[in-house]
Amino acid sequence: DTAQPAIEVRGLVKAFGDVTALDGVDLEVPEGSVHGLLGPNGAGKTTLLRILVGLVSPSAGTVRVLGHDPALGPAAREGVASLIESPRFKPSLSARTNLRMLADLDGLGAAGDVEDALARVGLDSRQTRAVRHYSLGMRQRLGIAACLVRRPRLLLLDEPANGLDPSGARDVRMLVRELADEGTTVLLSSHDMAEVDELCDSVTILARGRVARTGSMAGLRTEAPVAAYLLCTA
Ligand code: ATP
Repeated sequence: DTAQPAIEVRGLVKAFGDVTALDGVDLEVPEGSVHGLLGPNGAGKTTLLRILVGLVSPSAGTVRVLGHDPALGPAAREGVASLIESPRFKPSLSARTNLRMLADLDGLGAAGDVEDALARVGLDSRQTRAVRHYSLGMRQRLGIAACLVRRPRLLLLDEPANGLDPSGARDVRMLVRELADEGTTVLLSSHDMAEVDELCDSVTILARGRVARTGSMAGLRTEAPVAAYLLCTA
């Protein structure tokens, strides 16, 4: 008996008017793994992530996230946290106050959970500082802390290191690695092959809304199309 995958997507289609963002996508992410969603701008990565958290409804296909259809509402999305759009932190308030407010809005999290989440992303010593003084990298880690308050079994991250300087990007990658080592299932999108190679056990390469390749990083690394992708994005 194989365990139920954390994410199971079959024949997923999403059309926005004339634009077909997703055109028959299958995706399976085993519990406890880190899966990369790789593809150029416009490939459909964000649309797929938005469907997985119920922000967008599919045109066709089936979606199961931790065994539930995410379109059915918040109760069906328990155990799932995502960083897809940047959270709207209040710049004049401290990181801690921002997280407490978000936790309150979500109806969860004691103060202790907020402090624990801040510590896990390495922001405990700066938690009383106003968010307007935070660098982009610190804001991104704060966004991940906001996810951790939910104690997720599954974390969905949309290009988490995008736009960060090298040290900020390294911090975010280390954090993802630590969370994965603790057993959190992670699906992260990226257009950076090296980042996916560093972090992920397996990968799905999307191109124009379709799955171009999927498999283990070890297997795909040797494949010519993946080498071509590397050359294109270098
Ligand atoms: P990026 O790296 O730029 O975020 P992506 O791989 O995440 O790219 P998507 O944002 O999912 O790609 O977009 C896929 C396609 O769907 C694009 O052609 C985009 O213009 C289109 N699209 C996405 N959302 C909408 C929307 N709400 N309305 C209309 N078209 C949309």
